[in-house]
Amino acid sequence: MKSVFLSSLFILSISGKTSAQEIVKRDPLISGFIGQISSDTLSAYVKKLVTFGTRSTLSNTTDPKTGIGASRKWVLDKFLEFSKKSDGRMTAYLDKWTLEPDGRRIDAKIEMENVMAVIKGTDPTDNRIFMVSGHIDSRVTDVMNRTSDAPGANDDGSGTVAVIELARVLAASKFPATVIFTVFSGEEQGLLGANYLAKKAKSENWNLVALLNNDIMGSNNSNETNIIDNTRVRVFSEGIPAFETDKKVGAIRQFGYENDGHSRQVARYVKEIGERYVDNLEVVMIYRNDRFLRGGDHTPFVTEGFAAVRMSEMNENFLHQHQDLRTENGVEYGDLHKFMDFEYLRKNVAVNLATLANLAFAPAVPEDVMIDVQGLGNATNLHWSAPKQGKAAGYYVLMRETHQSFWQKKFYTENLELKLPYSKDNYIFAVQAVGAKGHESLPVLPRVNAARRN
Ligand SMILES: [Zn+2]
Repeated sequence: MKSVFLSSLFILSISGKTSAQEIVKRDPLISGFIGQISSDTLSAYVKKLVTFGTRSTLSNTTDPKTGIGASRKWVLDKFLEFSKKSDGRMTAYLDKWTLEPDGRRIDAKIEMENVMAVIKGTDPTDNRIFMVSGHIDSRVTDVMNRTSDAPGANDDGSGTVAVIELARVLAASKFPATVIFTVFSGEEQGLLGANYLAKKAKSENWNLVALLNNDIMGSNNSNETNIIDNTRVRVFSEGIPAFETDKKVGAIRQFGYENDGHSRQVARYVKEIGERYVDNLEVVMIYRNDRFLRGGDHTPFVTEGFAAVRMSEMNENFLHQHQDLRTENGVEYGDLHKFMDFEYLRKNVAVNLATLANLAFAPAVPEDVMIDVQGLGNATNLHWSAPKQGKAAGYYVLMRETHQSFWQKKFYTENLELKLPYSKDNYIFAVQAVGAKGHESLPVLPRVNAARRN
């Protein structure tokens, strides 16, 4: 049996037939979308966001020109403008609620709004949702300051304009699954908008398969050095899911699945698909949920049991985050447009687009993925059933050594089982469903049962 390493992009075909899946190719449709992402447009959007003065969640919600209310209305208007290209499939709205003072970061009753745009999937039987997000609220040094200029160009103007640009480019797209674009409020006051939506998604049983959260992703240097790094972007993901029960953690320990939680699988997918489509960019997986001393809007979703990751620039410049605008000893503080790199931001938006589009075009994950362990032996037998949504043209069985971070081999088959001459004791396996045009689902690790199900 011949096989080759994944990095060479060739894949072993088990059937012996030549198929599109033997060589991983870019889908020209996705590449076309990526070609429409514009660094000039991203720059113009950030400039516009800065004109609202402050976007503190505690700032004015009714003034037509300044404050968070006006900024949210502007985003809504952009979404509504894009929806005209969508044949009625894209809708946009403000998801509103009210919060009372909490003795912490809310000192008065506030009107909250998340800005939402939804591209409904074309397949009425497909309830899967893929979501991308950023947060519109900004802050200065004092998180309770509701009046001083807080440009928030990068934190999180970058994530906000990423979401707007993705909505612009994808508005007319036809995915079988639903894609949601979310601009959160209240991140700096304690992840308020994300908490609200994560709880809603949970209580309404959304089939939210993955969330890509973008926060601080458009600046290319750290405050300690002048080294420019615009060829790497970080994706943060947790390992052992926060919501796992003790029983599940026992199984994770037994089978060595501690590096394979749902969010970690999404991160690995972002790396593979992002690097497939975006040139001159490396996606760096960070094996932790977030940075020290900081939080992000993916976390409430992780806590509710959804797969969610955070995308952030490689190096952060803390002189340009959460700072009053000022110059001290010749050093300029503040989160300003001029400190950003819009070509770098464009690439990071492209990683989001490639991941979202590949997921939303792909069939759902294979069901009932099992690994046979009835007998001792040095081969591995995997079997599964077809996905519930979408049509699989075939399947990839992924394989890596237990100490490796990334999938090393990928076997293509059109059957619902595969026997491999590799010992299940020495490798981690997973199965992806693949559509006719090569879009892969997220991978599913096999459950281990002595008896075959179904
Ligand atoms: Zn932020």
